[in-house]
Amino acid sequence: MRLIILGAPGSGKGTTAVVLKEKYGLAHISTGDIFRSNIKAGTPLGLEAKSYIDKGQLVPDSITIGMVEGRLAESDCAKGYILDGFPRTIAQAEALDEMLSKKNEKIDAVLSIIVDDDIIKDRVCSRRVCEKCGASFNVKYKPTKVEGVCDLCGGSVVQRADDTPETVEARLVTYYENTKPLIDFYDAKGLIIEGNNNVDSDTCIKSIEDGLAKLGI
Ligand code: ADP
Ligand code: ZN
Repeated sequence: MRLIILGAPGSGKGTTAVVLKEKYGLAHISTGDIFRSNIKAGTPLGLEAKSYIDKGQLVPDSITIGMVEGRLAESDCAKGYILDGFPRTIAQAEALDEMLSKKNEKIDAVLSIIVDDDIIKDRVCSRRVCEKCGASFNVKYKPTKVEGVCDLCGGSVVQRADDTPETVEARLVTYYENTKPLIDFYDAKGLIIEGNNNVDSDTCIKSIEDGLAKLGI
């Protein structure tokens, strides 16, 4: 099964993706995580990406598309995957279609996570993430048992450099301009399954699982 997860920054794409990855045995491909690990390792890709990410802008398609194409060619993707944070532009979606059709593959469903902007702004600034496994926590709503230590893997739990009020505003503008049009793009293909994450992630995941079951996936 090949899935895409779409949603505004901080809507809970990563949290939802981790649950579905476990349940369906998928590879989890988060472009944000790939960029962050390159930034941490100081690679040329990381250095280039950082200048955009810090401003809440998109990393150019010319960098992002090739990076994802390489990742999808790795062996763990053969069992199916969930794309989290890609595509984020119509050009990326078209490039993905092309990559897949070359391999005679297709996307089975596109999960659209809905959250109101005011809830996003509140959640993102108190979000903390594990540097090692990517798990998300929240100092207000879902604190770690031990401050700064991941409950799941013992890694360090930190605030992302782009989870500040100013950068969140910029990321939301970028989302509405570039990424939200993808909902119509995939709706026209009949692929959208909605999950509402305004209340809690269990409710959101349940409606996605029901949607996948209805499609016979
Ligand atoms: P969020 O969805 O919460 O903003 P991500 O971890 O998915 O977080 O992405 C963080 C940043 O990485 C984005 O703001 C953007 O700068 C960059 N990025 C991630 N995925 C892409 C992509 N597909 N195309 C361009 N830039 C991307
Ligand atoms: Zn962890």
